[in-house]
Amino acid sequence: MLSYDSCLKYAQENHYCPHCKERLSCCETPPFHIGDGLGWGCEVMFVCLNDNCPVYARGWKHIEDQYGHSGSYRYMLLPGEEKGGTLMVGSPEAFTGCVIDPEVVKKQNVRYQEEKEALHGLDACIKEHNLQPALKLILDEAAGLEGRIRSCDCLVDLNDLACIDPIRNHTFTNPDIEHRANISIQRVLQGNFKKECPYCAEIIKNQAKMCMHCGKEIS
Ligand SMILES: [Zn+2]
Ligand SMILES: [Zn+2]
Repeated sequence: MLSYDSCLKYAQENHYCPHCKERLSCCETPPFHIGDGLGWGCEVMFVCLNDNCPVYARGWKHIEDQYGHSGSYRYMLLPGEEKGGTLMVGSPEAFTGCVIDPEVVKKQNVRYQEEKEALHGLDACIKEHNLQPALKLILDEAAGLEGRIRSCDCLVDLNDLACIDPIRNHTFTNPDIEHRANISIQRVLQGNFKKECPYCAEIIKNQAKMCMHCGKEIS
């Protein structure tokens, strides 16, 4: 795994294509080496993704003439090397999906740091009656599963009705976490002698025969 620091460092390095003078894009290295099946020995490579680059523009005809199939070349430089080479690509989209964007990397890091902080806060959240770390992890689809599962369990001990609305308003991509959060909500409602109105979803007293919010009768 590429560390945050080296990822950001690489993504902010400036290298230029000797053929077209465009700045090279920092790309994640594909998992296989097209040539010999061995690894690249590095996590990123700098690739010229300029479609007007002469290496790329002329490559199509060259490969067609030489090998009789569709493809071209991109100029490529490996980290720490002075001299680059060319890389065979099968389509114009090759490598465009693995460009490392420093802004995205920074955002991912902020999210990761917040997750770490929330995980840390989870230990004390029950004693401190603090819903926030658990809620943060449950609502973060990118957070680790273990922390999210622990957070769902914490909700029951926290027994705070304030957890319900944010969870109900969240779209889960992980059905297991959604299921666990729902079970916890049911237990929090029970623990507070409440239920959700089946018509308007507002929280009402367990023994209510009529919803004080929507006025519907509850059987
Ligand atoms: Zn170029
Ligand atoms: Zn209602």
